[in-house]
Amino acid sequence: MLLSNYHSHCTFCDGRSAPEDFVKFAVSKGFRAYGFSSHSPLPFETFWNMPVDDMPEYIAEINRLKEKYKDRLEIYTGLEIDYLDGTYNPSIPYFQELPLDYRIGSVHFLPIANPLSEANMACIDGAFSNYKEAVDHHYSGDLRRLVKHFYDSTMQMVESGGIDIVGHIDKVYMNGENYRESLVAEKWYRDMFTACLDLIAEKGVMVEINTKILTSKNKTFPHLNYLPLLLERNIPVMVNSDCHTPDLVNDGRPEALTLLKQLGFRSTRELIAGKWNEIAL
Ligand SMILES: [Zn+2]
Ligand SMILES: [Zn+2]
Repeated sequence: MLLSNYHSHCTFCDGRSAPEDFVKFAVSKGFRAYGFSSHSPLPFETFWNMPVDDMPEYIAEINRLKEKYKDRLEIYTGLEIDYLDGTYNPSIPYFQELPLDYRIGSVHFLPIANPLSEANMACIDGAFSNYKEAVDHHYSGDLRRLVKHFYDSTMQMVESGGIDIVGHIDKVYMNGENYRESLVAEKWYRDMFTACLDLIAEKGVMVEINTKILTSKNKTFPHLNYLPLLLERNIPVMVNSDCHTPDLVNDGRPEALTLLKQLGFRSTRELIAGKWNEIAL
């Protein structure tokens, strides 16, 4: 089993340790490849996104680590880029022109008004109280409308391109299940999710199996119940821990890899010498 992780956050965004601390941990666990994916700059400042002025230093620091550890670990420079709307997303020239090894596209924010500012965003990934307030005040108390907005944004992100991996494809269910427990089992929800997967399969984009809350809450993104739908569509996957501290670099990975095998997945996508390869599980 080749150990790798392509989704991680360090002190350049909301991660809790310097990049080199993650590298040291990965080396100590025998990892083959490690990728950083700081939260992309946005048109407004947030607590967890990287300021645009820090981008050159981010790239330089990962390059320094690539060189320093080249005999022990393949290190990659990625970015977790927010899809906000048609004007600010992974496909815009700013992100496409950065010297990155890969791009993860994620939806954390749903714009509910203009212009693009933090006050005009419904955040689906924060505290449940904020999520509930967004549903109640901006989607007329209709959870389905917020979920539709989320999957519409995800599909527009896939359609506009410029990404290698869809990040935590169904994060909307995490708070959504607290709003309505039956959410993931409802037919309309399944229909929205499968429409999104069909588009992803058509475009040939990868989907990560995100284990950020597997150990703590026994949940993955995509939802455990929906993993077979990826297999049916031959969607390429890899396992990512989305860690914010070095001790969680490998969190949930052994369990997720075992589960994928049990479900019938035969391989994961891995970066080898800078190219994505299909590697047997
Ligand atoms: Zn994310
Ligand atoms: Zn992340």
